[in-house]
Amino acid sequence: MAEKQQALDAIEKYRLELEALSDAIWEHPQVGYQETYAANAFCRFLEKSGFRVEKNLAGIPTAFCASYGSGAPVIGLLGEFDALPGMSQKANCFQKSAVEEDAPGHGCGHNLLGVGALSAALAVKTYLGSGHSGTVKFYGCPAEEGGSGKVFLAKAGVFNDLDAALTWHPGDTNNVSCSTNLANCQICYHFKGKASHAAISPELGRSALDAVELMNVGIQFLREHIPTGCRVHYAITNAGGNAPAIVQERADVLYLMRAPQLTTVRELMERVNEVARGAAIMTGTTVESEFIKATSNIIVNQTLGRLLQKNLEKLGTASYDDRDLAFAQKMVDTLEQKDPYFAQLVDKIADPEQKKRLLPYLERPIYDVVLPYPETVSQSLASSDVGDVSWVCPVAQISTSTMPGGVPMHSWQMVAVGKSDMAKKGMLQAGKVLASTAIDLYELPEVLQAAKAEHMERTGGTPYCSPIPDGVEPRKT
Ligand SMILES: [Zn+2]
Ligand SMILES: [Zn+2]
Repeated sequence: MAEKQQALDAIEKYRLELEALSDAIWEHPQVGYQETYAANAFCRFLEKSGFRVEKNLAGIPTAFCASYGSGAPVIGLLGEFDALPGMSQKANCFQKSAVEEDAPGHGCGHNLLGVGALSAALAVKTYLGSGHSGTVKFYGCPAEEGGSGKVFLAKAGVFNDLDAALTWHPGDTNNVSCSTNLANCQICYHFKGKASHAAISPELGRSALDAVELMNVGIQFLREHIPTGCRVHYAITNAGGNAPAIVQERADVLYLMRAPQLTTVRELMERVNEVARGAAIMTGTTVESEFIKATSNIIVNQTLGRLLQKNLEKLGTASYDDRDLAFAQKMVDTLEQKDPYFAQLVDKIADPEQKKRLLPYLERPIYDVVLPYPETVSQSLASSDVGDVSWVCPVAQISTSTMPGGVPMHSWQMVAVGKSDMAKKGMLQAGKVLASTAIDLYELPEVLQAAKAEHMERTGGTPYCSPIPDGVEPRKT
């Protein structure tokens, strides 16, 4: 289809600008809800390119939505741009070395994620601009890392008019995701006791730190009696100070609970709340729970997934040259241990011939091969705020190779490769696959209908219900 090719050519036309934007965001890493540099740079680019830009989306200063076209169908593209705290690292450097100690860095490749999705939006705009009906919406979604940005956006209803949404994540593999993940919620328990001299008048004191410790012990016993697949993690965020001679008046512990279904997370949360109350009773202290954030599990959509796969196979991986391969090998050599994700995906393939074909790629510095679409939905143990969008409309996502094979997420190596040629090639290839798939959705209403029917079936017709209670505000990381 000539029009589709023309649309994809738009990505090549903007290549240098897009690459410069990704680099600029890498150079100005900002953590959740503070990504003013990236949000402003995206909005400027989108306005200049002819999109209608709505800023301050859902009252969040760094959230925005850029639209082009009119009428149905409405296809969304989700972009992220937040960095991770403490992950500062020099680009194209083969040892751990911060640009600025303790400063943030792009440890999850979200500079690429945002710009890759933007490049898809530009291509779709070119297609719609040549006289096709339909709307494209590019969402600037802040605070994916620990801030649940999309959950607050979904609660405000900003995705409600979408017929489908597409996104991607930088990685070391070229594949379509076909796994659901864990819903989660995060609650901070604030214990309050009474300070006193720990030697002279301990009987007058009530220790908030004792309460935190007893709560944690209680949770260790609870673990045996929670459903398989659940996870409970905690961090003591306030141990009550560093003076052992003072009975600790205040102490706080932050709990993160995960389960395959949101309903199970809610049940788990109630039981953890009871343990907190028990710890308070035992120690004569009081406890207040503060709801921080939550995300829903992902609803997989295989109809959309297979369409993405078709386009990924047609377009293939990016063309990595010898320089990219040499660069990647040098970075792989810095790893003590390779991330096993690619090996695990290959291992799950049932067809022995396919497996045999793919195994040699394990030794390559870049996994430059498209993986087959998995036949079954698997369960990932991570969580993502894309989950909440997937409850509102059909969603599917891909990964492309933006980093050498075996580089783990959230590692200094991932930050170090974020401005490399291979990363940019992977980023724009992702943009092309997303754009190509979006164009198919405008052209093939029957596929979009099938995706919606699948969505209805998988959610059981249950309308989206935000996991975040009313009154909870987005919190800066
Ligand atoms: Zn991440
Ligand atoms: Zn990420």
